[in-house]
Amino acid sequence: MSPKLNMLWRLMAGHRQKYVLAAVALLVSVLIAYLAPQVIGGTVDSILGDKPLDAPKWVVEAFEAMGGKTQFEQKLWICAIALVLIALVSGMFMFLKGRWAAQAAEAVTSRMRNRMYDHIQQLPCSFFDRSDTGDLIQRCTSDIETVHRFLSEQVADVMRAILTILVAIPLMLMMSPRMTLVSTFLMPFIIAYTVAFFVKIRFAFQASDEAEARMTGTIQQNLTGIRVVRAFARQDYENDRFAEKNAEFRDLDCRLIQMLAWYWSISDVMCFAQRGVVLFFGGWWAISGRADALSTGDLIIFFFYVNMYLWPVRSIGRTLTELSKAMVSLGRLDEVLNELPEDHDDKPTSAAPLEGQIEFDSVSFSHGDLEVLKDVSFRIEPGQTMAILGPSGSGKSTIVNLLLRLYDYDSGAIRIDGTNIREMGRKNLRGQIGTVMQEPFLFSKSLRDNIRLGKSHAADEEIVLAAETAYLHTSVEHFDHGYETLVGERGITLSGGQRQRVALARAILKHPAILILDDALSAVDTRTEAMILRALRNRHGKSTTIVIAHRLSTLARADKIIVLDGGKVLQAGTHEQLVAQDGMYRDLWKIQNALESDLADEMDSGPAPKEDDS
Ligand code: ADP
Ligand code: MG
Repeated sequence: MSPKLNMLWRLMAGHRQKYVLAAVALLVSVLIAYLAPQVIGGTVDSILGDKPLDAPKWVVEAFEAMGGKTQFEQKLWICAIALVLIALVSGMFMFLKGRWAAQAAEAVTSRMRNRMYDHIQQLPCSFFDRSDTGDLIQRCTSDIETVHRFLSEQVADVMRAILTILVAIPLMLMMSPRMTLVSTFLMPFIIAYTVAFFVKIRFAFQASDEAEARMTGTIQQNLTGIRVVRAFARQDYENDRFAEKNAEFRDLDCRLIQMLAWYWSISDVMCFAQRGVVLFFGGWWAISGRADALSTGDLIIFFFYVNMYLWPVRSIGRTLTELSKAMVSLGRLDEVLNELPEDHDDKPTSAAPLEGQIEFDSVSFSHGDLEVLKDVSFRIEPGQTMAILGPSGSGKSTIVNLLLRLYDYDSGAIRIDGTNIREMGRKNLRGQIGTVMQEPFLFSKSLRDNIRLGKSHAADEEIVLAAETAYLHTSVEHFDHGYETLVGERGITLSGGQRQRVALARAILKHPAILILDDALSAVDTRTEAMILRALRNRHGKSTTIVIAHRLSTLARADKIIVLDGGKVLQAGTHEQLVAQDGMYRDLWKIQNALESDLADEMDSGPAPKEDDS
């Protein structure tokens, strides 16, 4: 079995009997449906005409017991009721089939959706570096939907087509082999035409799907960048771009509709031709007056059977197309599910609290061919603060990513409390590190819930304390709903600095052994930044802290400073040591000092600046 079908088979575990039940119900329904023409044929021949009833013995006996031909001639409604009953029972089994198949399909796809989501949560960052978010969302939604449609409808359609043919042909053969040949004369041509057409149209379907994806992609990008579009007055250009994509999609879709219209018309002609063949030859035989002539009733039965098998046969092509689409979707799902989760090599470790001693020992790391860190070494003692300074792209954030095991380093060693971090489970490790990024992500929830992300059962006092340390509390008190204020798309829009401080409060609340601020206070004014850093230093039970920032005045108090450039540590030491050395640090110190004194001079002569709440 192919790996895709194998996967599907495994996902169906526990629901397979439902599918079997659905198949049985379908078979029963088809079998019963084929009785209806027999009743009509029998009525025409044996009640209206004078052919003896050609049916199983018990039916003939019941027929005689109820009064025979004369009785039925007067009460034709009995035949009508028999017909209705057959339709009812067959419909009931059809309903059961639909219900069972739908239930099984729903259960299987919901399991598949959970499995995908779960798996994506576990995948390493390197996977997201090389994949496209829109594409991943599509896999979780429309690809799963395609598989769902396949499971709930197409499997049944295929079975129905096969069963119809398997039931119809023996029944017809039993009645008249010659008429069977006439009745199925065009069937191979209809099947061949259908299959050939849908193989061809598959590419048109695909082209139209892709054009639609390009169109939605344009909308999505435009909405995401709506402010940039406005700021650069590019609306007209964007409108033209969208109109172009829209027209492309329209043209392809029109072509598709036209092709389908042709298909159904030609297919209709072929089906009517098949009916015509039956009518012509059947009629000819019926009136030939030969010994083996066909009765009128039998002609009617054949006519019904032809009508009954034509529809499922005609839809084989469409079903095959859907089937191949479902296979493509299954393949796309399988691709994601085959990616190794990041913790596949995690060893179970004790969750003992960390002291917070960090050591980088000749660590090197590359993103593909790009060497990002080269031979980086440093050591931080528990409770100390280390500052990292360096131009953008020098590898500062990469140091943080490696420490969090978002990526694994290539060579050297990273140790915390003397243990290599590769020996520590990722979840355990990250649970003890609080990280604040430059552009923190806040969820569309209340401020309280956003802060509480660091510790789900934190008491209100703890939250306030964390907010105070992050200099957030006074700002929150100015909001109408305080900590219940909604943030994000449905609530208020926070400034960059406020967002950064919410994220900081979130990290502080966690009481992590290691606290990392990756350019986390860039949008906060200098004075507040200095106060926050002081509050962090004076905190009870303080964490080992790594601060990445650009203002030397705020970094100067760190226990240790390293200067990074091009992925290499250029200088390391305390502020006093580094200022005394010739190098990048002293150059920067001179520039920033000069700027600050210029600024101070200007402020002294100008009007007093307004305090802003950044
Ligand atoms: P910074 O010092 O500004 O924080 P980073 O550590 O973020 O620098 O990045 C260091 C280098 O690594 C940069 O040249 C950047 O382009 C590259 N880089 C960062 N992340 C990735 C990634 N996911 N894939 C490829 N290259 C990356
Ligand atoms: Mg960075």
